[in-house]
Amino acid sequence: MFLRATRPLFPAARRLSTRASQVLSSLGINHAEPVPGVYDGQWRGSGEHLLSVCPATGEELARVVSASPEELHTTLDKAREAYKAFRLVPAPRRGEVLRQIREEKADLGALVSLEMGKIRSEGAGEVQEIVDILDYGVGLSRMMNGRVVASERPGHSILEIPNPLGVVAVLSAFNFPVAVYGWNLALSFAAGNATIWKPSQTTPLCSIALTKIISEVLERNELPGVLAALVTGAKDVGSAIVESKSVDMVSFTGSEAVGRQVAKTVQSRFGKVLLELGGNNASIIMPDADLSLAVPAVFFGAVGTAGQRCTSTRRLYLHRTIAPEVLSRLETLYASVPPKIGDPLLENTLLGPLHNENAVQIYERALETHKAQHAEILTSSGRYTQLAEGNFVLPVIAVPKHADPGLAGSMWSTETFAPILSVAVFDELEQAIEWNNAVPQGLSSSLWTRDVRHIGQWLGPAGSDTGIVNVNVGTSGAEIGAAFGGNKSTGWGRESGGDAWKQYVRWSAATINFSDAAPLAQGVSFAP
Ligand code: NAD
Repeated sequence: MFLRATRPLFPAARRLSTRASQVLSSLGINHAEPVPGVYDGQWRGSGEHLLSVCPATGEELARVVSASPEELHTTLDKAREAYKAFRLVPAPRRGEVLRQIREEKADLGALVSLEMGKIRSEGAGEVQEIVDILDYGVGLSRMMNGRVVASERPGHSILEIPNPLGVVAVLSAFNFPVAVYGWNLALSFAAGNATIWKPSQTTPLCSIALTKIISEVLERNELPGVLAALVTGAKDVGSAIVESKSVDMVSFTGSEAVGRQVAKTVQSRFGKVLLELGGNNASIIMPDADLSLAVPAVFFGAVGTAGQRCTSTRRLYLHRTIAPEVLSRLETLYASVPPKIGDPLLENTLLGPLHNENAVQIYERALETHKAQHAEILTSSGRYTQLAEGNFVLPVIAVPKHADPGLAGSMWSTETFAPILSVAVFDELEQAIEWNNAVPQGLSSSLWTRDVRHIGQWLGPAGSDTGIVNVNVGTSGAEIGAAFGGNKSTGWGRESGGDAWKQYVRWSAATINFSDAAPLAQGVSFAP
C-alpha cells in the first residue's frame, strides 16, 4: 500500500513541478484534490488512498481514491448487466466504437513517462501500441469467424461458433501502464464483453487518463461506461476480482509469484485465466552475425526502459570468437550512458529511473549476489547518486563465474527487473540453445546469425522454447500483429494479435440436422 506513515499525505503547501502539473492538467487531472479512481459509468471512489509518485523526482503527483469492496462489487454487477445488452450489439458496430477511440488525440505518452518513468520516445511508443491494436480491433470486429466443419452424417452440418464471453477483468503491471490494457480492451470489446480494469497501484493516473478518453466515446455512443470500467486499488482489490465468480476471464499481467496465486484461484473456481508473466530473455550472437546490428540491439534490449520490460534482454550468450569484440563495443556504449541519465520527459534522456525504491533495492541485492558469487562486473554499477531524488541506477554488465542456469542459487534463472545483463561464452550453438532453454521462464529470445542452418535449428523442434523467437531482431519490443506471450513460467498466455482473440469468446460446437433422419454419430445403433 502506498500510504506513507512517516509524513503527511498531502502537506498543506504541496507544490508540483511545472512539468508535472502541465502533463496532468493537459489530461484533465486535478492533482490538487483527491482523484476518483473508480469508473462504473460515474467517477467515484471511497476506498484507500493511493499515492502516485514520480520515479524521477520523488514528487507526489496526486492522491487517488481507490475502490472500496462495495464499489468493486457494484461495478461487477453493473458490468454484468451492461454485458447482457452489449453482447447483442453487432460486432462491426462495436468495432466502430473502437475506431472512434482510436481517433481521440491525447498526449498520454507524457503521463506514462511522468508516472512510470520510461523515456519520452518509449512513452509515445506505448501509446502507439494502443492505436495499433485499436486498428486491429476494428478489423477484427468484421473477422471473428467461426467455422463450418464437415459432418459424417448426411444432411448435417457442424458449426463452431464464437459468442461473447461475459465480464473480462484485466489486471495489469506497472511497466506498461496503458498498452497492456489497450491490447486487452480492443479484443475484449470487439468480442462483445464488458471489461473491468485493475491497473498497478503505482500507475493509477495513467489508467484514469485512458479511461476518461474511452468513457467519453462510450457516452457519445450512448453505451454504458461500465463496459470499460476501472477499479484502482492495491492487491486486496486485485484478489477480490480474481476470486469473484462474476468474472468470466481474468487476464493477468505481472510477476510469476502473483501470477501463480492468480492462476490457482481462478482455476479453483473453473474460471478462465490468461497469464502474461515474467521473462528472462536471452540473445545469442554467432560468429557470422552482423555486429553493427547485434550490439545496438542488445544495448537497447538490456538498457532500454531501464531493464523494466518483460522482454528486456537479461542474458547474453556470445560465441567465443566474437566475445571480446562484442564486450568491448558494449562497454563503450554503457560508458556513454551516464550523461544521458535523467528526467524521462526530456527529449535527449536515454535512461530514466527505476519505478520505485523497491526496484532499486532489488537491483542492489542482485548486484550483491553477483559479487558474492564472484561475477566479474564490467561496468560502473550502483545508484546514480547525481540525481538523488529519483530512483536512478547505472546499467550493469556482469560475467558470472558459472554459466549453467541449473546451478543452485544461480542468478541466471530469476528475472531481475532492472538493467543488469549477464554474459557467458559458448563454443557450439547447441550449448547456447540449451542455456537459453534452461531457465523457468519462456518469453523472448533472439539469435544473431546469417547462416540459414542456424536459423533452422533455432526455430525448429530442438530450438528456442520461448513464445517469441527472433532472428536478427532483439528480444525486446514486439508488434501487435502476432500473438504476444510466453511459455513455461511466463504463463502460456497470448495477447494482442494472431489467434489471441479466440480466448475472449466462448466457443460452441453446434451440430445441425437438416435431414429427415436422426442418425447417431460413429454409426451407433440404439433401437429398442
Ligand atoms: P506484480 O505481479 O507485482 O503486479 C501485477 C498486478 O497484480 C498489479 O495490478 C498488482 O496490483 C496486482 N496484484 C498484486 N498482488 C495481487 C494479488 N495477490 N492478487 C491479485 N492481484 C494482485 O507485477 P509488477 O511489479 O507490477 O510488474 C512487473 C512484472 O510484470 C514483471 O515480472 C514483468 O516481467 C511482468 N510483465 C509481464 C508482461 C508479459 O506480457 N509477459 C508484460 C508486462 C510485465
